[in-house]
Amino acid sequence: MIKGLYIHIPFCDQICTYCDFAKMVADDDLKVDYMRALVRELEYFSDLTEKCETIYIGGGTPSSLELDLLEAFLIELASVVNLEKIVEFTFETNPGDVNEDLLNLLKKYHVSRISMGVQALNDKLLKFLGRTHTKEVVVSAVELIKKHNFALNLDFLYAIPGQTKAMLMKDLEYIKNFNPEHISYYSLIVEDKTILNYLINNHKVADFPDDKARDYADIVDSILKDYGYIKYEVSNYAKPGFASKHNLLYWNLEEYLGIGSNASSQYNYVRMKNPRSIKEYIEGTKKHAFNMHELEEYNPKLEILLMGLRKTAGVSLDFYKLRTKKDVFEVYPQLQKHLDNNLLEITDGYLRFTNEGMYLANQVYLDII
Ligand code: SF4
Repeated sequence: MIKGLYIHIPFCDQICTYCDFAKMVADDDLKVDYMRALVRELEYFSDLTEKCETIYIGGGTPSSLELDLLEAFLIELASVVNLEKIVEFTFETNPGDVNEDLLNLLKKYHVSRISMGVQALNDKLLKFLGRTHTKEVVVSAVELIKKHNFALNLDFLYAIPGQTKAMLMKDLEYIKNFNPEHISYYSLIVEDKTILNYLINNHKVADFPDDKARDYADIVDSILKDYGYIKYEVSNYAKPGFASKHNLLYWNLEEYLGIGSNASSQYNYVRMKNPRSIKEYIEGTKKHAFNMHELEEYNPKLEILLMGLRKTAGVSLDFYKLRTKKDVFEVYPQLQKHLDNNLLEITDGYLRFTNEGMYLANQVYLDII
């Protein structure tokens, strides 16, 4: 049964230096065409989404849509899903897009959670990342979101070239005052085909040293713990009761439907992906070619392990056996080595990374993939 619906909005007002997501800066006509295509796909799959429990509108930058266009889509969404029954409905925003009109519209359609890409609160770093907001904009956006009583997730980055420990500590101080229900704190990864990668390869910017990144990760972990956040996934922290139900569907290998360009779906033990190209996606929906998803190989024996290890709780050994009819150590005997060298541990029937193992996870992954 499909439990979660992901809706991809691939448009951004600017392109950040570090980003390799499926997104683009688009004109109004293309946005209208794309939103119509989304509606076609939504209607086609309406039987599957009837009973979904979570919705996540992400991107790209969903808040970059004109409000009229966004509302036209939300009306269609409300006609195929009973939004009042959705237990968690998340909408991604950029800080500069947050205003009374947007928040009132989201409330009207039962959005319960705002996820905002802050990344840092030092204006120089924000400029370097290619973000258009400033610290002041973030402060006002957080105030407004809280006034409207949405649960709030803030995305932050550490290990940004040029980020000092003092800057990191300042960000963490702001987080204490903002007191969001949820924080995603990612280490900045330099992806291929990004401006940041070009700058580093051409020695215009120095890469962030690994040992310093690990030091920063420890600081983030320990300070967020002091603030009362529970780390429940490699990069995610929540106040009790506010772990992301939608993202947990992915990590627990539940069934979900993703609509839009480059969106993935997983149901009936099959994984599918829409075309990354926006034009190809739109054309496909016009021809009612809804089987345009490319089939991907899906190996539950591997994926339950990989997804489960992302969570700090780990993988339930009983659940693994139930779903795969095999003992995990029978399938992957090499795991024993990592129990012996203390990168993995078993606690209350769950196989999980130790603290040390979290940092050296790649050693384990390389052994099992
Ligand atoms: S990081 Fe977010 S806002 Fe920046 S280009 Fe990527 S998707 Fe768009």
